[in-house]
Amino acid sequence: MIDLHVHLSGSLRPTTIINYAREKRISLPTYDAALLGEYLKAPEHCQNLNEFYDLCDMTDWVLQDRRAIRQSMMELVQDLDSQGILYAEVRFSPSECTLDGLRQGDAVTAALEGLEWGMKNSRNIRVNLILCIIQKMNEHEAFETLVEVKKHLRKGVCGLDLLLDESLYETDIYDWLFSLIKEEYIPFTVHAGQYNTQSIKKAIRNGAQRISQSIHILDDEELLEDIIRRKVVVELCPSSNVKLGVVESYSTHPVRQLFDRGVRVCLGADRLRVSGATLQEEYDNLQKYLGFTPAEIYKMNQNAAKGAFLSQMEKDRLQFDLFEANKAIVDKE
Ligand SMILES: [Zn+2]
Repeated sequence: MIDLHVHLSGSLRPTTIINYAREKRISLPTYDAALLGEYLKAPEHCQNLNEFYDLCDMTDWVLQDRRAIRQSMMELVQDLDSQGILYAEVRFSPSECTLDGLRQGDAVTAALEGLEWGMKNSRNIRVNLILCIIQKMNEHEAFETLVEVKKHLRKGVCGLDLLLDESLYETDIYDWLFSLIKEEYIPFTVHAGQYNTQSIKKAIRNGAQRISQSIHILDDEELLEDIIRRKVVVELCPSSNVKLGVVESYSTHPVRQLFDRGVRVCLGADRLRVSGATLQEEYDNLQKYLGFTPAEIYKMNQNAAKGAFLSQMEKDRLQFDLFEANKAIVDKE
């Protein structure tokens, strides 16, 4: 399996949160790892976005020094490896690690060290980082993140993610960002289309080859055809989509229709602890609720390999590894 959409925020091990809470004398609702694991899982239908993101914040306060970032990143790589993932692109927001004075550059260096350690202490997973520019950042912080992407591009960082306010895509407020991304040839993906189609249109017009959580594509036939023609890869995280209320249930999730229409869709686990499902469980749910076959799931992972922010040679290698891992399914076809 390949996961192009998993955030470090919301994916930390409960034991790590507890250890750092004790060290920093921060109070937690429980100090029992199993109970904290349950507490971190967002309810099936959150009342509002805050309910979901407040749980992510509970993991983020840990990430305020280099040691914690390094350890958390290493553990996430190992967790993904133990779930049978061959390649992952982990999203990391360095601007959320600066509450105690850490600089974004130091946060990124620590995350890259954790990534290296994680890969060295895993079976065969390969991981790159995607740095995130998020809604609550100011322009200066966003620019700083962009500089970090540029500095480490193809050296552990493979691209950028924009997690911005979808309602503002109609304005020109983010235009400077898109211009810089284009000028610097930075591969990027955008959280777009969770609430409207304008954000998707703007992202694609500005060269996004991947978009995330784009539930609303089916609202606009012309846009749908454009996405198919441009071979844009669409990353979806059904558990989060349901919990955040952008989709009513697994059985009504648009992933089936998008796949059937020929959109290059793939799945991601999003936030392991808060979304509450591994990538395997996400794919199992597709089989259970939407009748996906193992061959169709293999195809979705091939879509992910096509959309990975890697060189063509690396993508070919990944397709080969994927083929080897899915030989039983291929032979059956
Ligand atoms: Zn996301």
